[in-house]
Amino acid sequence: MPARKPLRICLAASEMTPLAKTGGLADVTAALTAYLDARGHDVRMLMPFYSSIEEGALEIEVVPELQDMAMELDGRTVHYWIVRARLDTDGPSFYLLQCPELYSGPDLYGGEDEHIRFVLLTRAAIEMCQRLQFRPDLFHIHDWHTALLPVYLKTTYAWDELFRKTRTVLTIHNIGYQGVFGNDVLGPIGLEYSTDFLDQEDLYHDRVNFLKTGVTHADLLTTVSPTYAREILGPEYGMGLEQALRARHGRLVGILNGVDYDEWNPENDPLIPFTYSATDLAGKEKNKRAVLEEMGLEYVFDRPLFGMVSRLTYQKGIELVEQALPDLMRNHDFSLLVLGSGEPGCEQFFNWLQKEFPGRVGFYRGFNNPLAHRIEAGSDVFMMPSRYEPCGLNQMYSLKYGTVPLVRATGGLADSVQHFDPKTGYGTGVVFHDFDANGLTWGITTALKLYANKHAWKQVVYNGMQKDYSWAEQGRLYEERFRKLVRD
Ligand code: ADP
Repeated sequence: MPARKPLRICLAASEMTPLAKTGGLADVTAALTAYLDARGHDVRMLMPFYSSIEEGALEIEVVPELQDMAMELDGRTVHYWIVRARLDTDGPSFYLLQCPELYSGPDLYGGEDEHIRFVLLTRAAIEMCQRLQFRPDLFHIHDWHTALLPVYLKTTYAWDELFRKTRTVLTIHNIGYQGVFGNDVLGPIGLEYSTDFLDQEDLYHDRVNFLKTGVTHADLLTTVSPTYAREILGPEYGMGLEQALRARHGRLVGILNGVDYDEWNPENDPLIPFTYSATDLAGKEKNKRAVLEEMGLEYVFDRPLFGMVSRLTYQKGIELVEQALPDLMRNHDFSLLVLGSGEPGCEQFFNWLQKEFPGRVGFYRGFNNPLAHRIEAGSDVFMMPSRYEPCGLNQMYSLKYGTVPLVRATGGLADSVQHFDPKTGYGTGVVFHDFDANGLTWGITTALKLYANKHAWKQVVYNGMQKDYSWAEQGRLYEERFRKLVRD
């Protein structure tokens, strides 16, 4: 328990592990909620009750104050209610927003009413506090989905004294997704008379940008690594928001995400066939053999295995893999396992690669968390040639699993992996800089040479396994920032 007064925090987000996840955002909201709760703060986390969430896995409690709620949205009255839930008796409780007419589609994102779905979430977070008479010290909002919350507090809910001292913190997990809509949505979301709070140039071009609006109005901006916090101030990575960010420069901090080592630890991971540790790596080789067999590939002693678990998108540098891998596979002896789905062109490429190099390339199209664990445990090298990577989690999992990360020096990859120098024995992975096929080719051939040097390999694996990126450390950084914000 903190020695000081606990904070009252309302956190609103579109995803949380294990209920709904498409990426790292879900891991962060779950871990941060658990961390802050364990520290004794009063955290009210709200997310949609998507129809894909299995009710049976939850303990659900009806909250009388949160029944029969309604909001004028999209020219109609949208009815909703909120329940309290928890996954197990030890874990923190959270709130689930029920609105079957909006959250029963198969996908979390997309669709014509996407803005309505997330505005309901945003405003429901505020109205939940009102109903519970919960006076938050701060709202912690995430990505574009809830980024309009500060503007709603300054307009639609400005009358409510409950929020007089409430601050807002917007965390940007990925600036590539901004929630840009035609400004004809302003009426349906109830902001048609609040255009003074919106970007005038966007309005001139008949559009509204949810994330930019949050960047302009939140009291504090955070993003998920120190390097990314610097990168997004420039045009290459800012994706059009660099000016808005530069205007709030003093309010932007980068905090690397933490890892949930309860879920990602080779010493006791129930999802891998053989557990192992830094002092006894025998299980790692057995995992390699097992995952290769599972994916129908040959096991050859001393043939390095490269793994990838990723959304298959432009962001993740798949085009470099497409350009560099075929030749590298022809000229060098290594295998590759890929788990992911995404852009059809990327999927087609990995299907082709699998046919071209039978027995050496395995591609599993889809989302499969247990398989992600087995690939982490069984691979020798984990590849992340990202064009940009706000934080990235897999490279940190890889370090713990003794799977040497091969990364491009960008965002959180640059902050969490240091290039290994065989002369000094310092470093935890292979880091390349140029985003082109030569860069990745250099990275892969460097990793192959390193693998062939048994002494150096042992050292780089060991160095990585000693690293600790736990939430205990990263959560504390959030807590300090929150305290400072509330105090100021
Ligand atoms: P991003 O949020 O950009 O997708 P991160 O590295 O921050 O990237 O987080 C990705 C998370 O999603 C990791 O926990 C990773 O293991 C998981 N993941 C990504 N793709 C898959 C997949 N196809 N199957 C299982 N897990 C996946």
